[in-house]
Amino acid sequence: MDIRKVVVIGGGTMGNGITHVNAAAGLNVSLIDLNESVLERAIATITKNLDRMLSKQKITEEEKNATLARISTGTDLESAVKDADLVIEAVNENFGLKKKIFTLLDEKAPKHCILASNTSSISITKLAGVTSRPASVIGMHFFNPVPVMKLVEIVKGLETSQEVYAAIESLTHKLGKVPVPVNDSPGFVSNRVLMPMINEAIFCVYEGVGKPEDVDEVMKLGMAHPMGPLRLADFIGLDVCLDILNVLYDGFRDPKYRPCPLLVQMVDAGKLGDKTGGGFYQKG
Ligand code: NAD
Repeated sequence: MDIRKVVVIGGGTMGNGITHVNAAAGLNVSLIDLNESVLERAIATITKNLDRMLSKQKITEEEKNATLARISTGTDLESAVKDADLVIEAVNENFGLKKKIFTLLDEKAPKHCILASNTSSISITKLAGVTSRPASVIGMHFFNPVPVMKLVEIVKGLETSQEVYAAIESLTHKLGKVPVPVNDSPGFVSNRVLMPMINEAIFCVYEGVGKPEDVDEVMKLGMAHPMGPLRLADFIGLDVCLDILNVLYDGFRDPKYRPCPLLVQMVDAGKLGDKTGGGFYQKG
């Protein structure tokens, strides 16, 4: 299966990084979002990240320019996917929204096109179920910041074909990343393990057991984590953490995944972490 043209849907935190690494690996990438200002911001972020790599002599000026030249942007999803070999969806963690997009992709993308989602927790089998090609639907779960993090959790839905899995595994190697196969289950492996830890750290703050910086210090110095769970939650986005916890809670129907009321309150207040300038820590 030859993947040459990739369409990335959603140019936020993850979408711009996914666009960056695919273009850097020599693929033509079309990045789609709802409006031009988001797309301009995404290209500015990619350019800034390429400049940082250039200043560290990890890439040359020619490589930077060639990467940028392989990226096109737009708001017209239907025409962008007409000749796509692979679509990677990276819109907000909301099943209703992703369902709408997968239904449209199934209608408009060529039959050979693989439909991948960067979802953190939503069932790949359920997304595949809204299409007429469940064998071609797969999870391609990148980690933030995408140009730096090596892992891609590759999620096989109930009907994902071995051929599609092999194509995505091979592409992941081409991107310079390490694929790890997992089967479809709420939160997969990464967020099923990570989110309860973050949630418990938030409960520690909520119940007055420790201040955010002290909770983080315990996990950094005692458990050798490079970043404390609350700092990491701010980095991921508190809204994203809450969405994932809700998927775990609904998926397993187990109270151990109940989101901490403090997390719910912070999201309600619009304190979403680094992207809004404040969460458990002030940023910028
Ligand atoms: P984000 O909020 O930063 O970006 C989402 C983008 O999708 C926005 O730019 C928005 O305008 C765009 N969008 C929404 N509806 C759209 C539509 N109909 N068409 C085109 N674009 C649309 O979110 P994010 O943090 O980049 O997360 C995206 C996905 O990646 C989610 O499924 C999330 O769970 C997953 N994910 C996030 C992280 C993380 O650390 N943030 C890590 C791994 C996976």
